[in-house]
Amino acid sequence: LTRSRSAVRMAMERTYIMIKPDGVQRGLVGEIIKRFEQRGYKLGALKLYQANEDLLRKHYGDLQEKPFFPGLLKYMTSGPVTCMVWEGENVVRMGRQMLGETNPQASAPGTIRGDFSIVVGRNICHGSDSVASAEKEIKLWFDDNEVLAWKDHSHAWVYE
Ligand code: UDP
Ligand code: MG
Repeated sequence: LTRSRSAVRMAMERTYIMIKPDGVQRGLVGEIIKRFEQRGYKLGALKLYQANEDLLRKHYGDLQEKPFFPGLLKYMTSGPVTCMVWEGENVVRMGRQMLGETNPQASAPGTIRGDFSIVVGRNICHGSDSVASAEKEIKLWFDDNEVLAWKDHSHAWVYE
């Protein structure tokens, strides 16, 4: 086998993960951070934040016409959210997998939604659905100087 490892290596990506107001209220912030941290992903940004309608209309732009949208706005502005950037190989898709399905009842046990939630309107977390939306969402929720580049001493132990 002469093919170099770098030829098959997945791209390093960033994703936007957000703990929704129910996740914050229920004391799940540490648990959710822990899962990303212990898997080996690298934290790029983190803050507790009170979202407003204007920001959420931008974040959920594609859902504005849905019947659940007014309820979604009310839910998402009902208390602080926890905004995060996580970095690593294939983290956009892996992050969605760790969250589970949009509907918690379709989420496998072991996923965040499958372990901690029951209904779609209180599904405790958000994760970007593509690299393009991740980059858009990171720009929307964070100022440039809030997202840090730093040397992770675990890198050589997490990646081959
Ligand atoms: N949502 C809802 N009812 C629905 C579908 C979605 O309340 O029937 C909410 C739910 O909180 C979901 C969010 O709207 O997480 C965004 O929906 P999307 O389809 O983007 O799901 P996600 O990407 O969060 O899995
Ligand atoms: Mg979505």
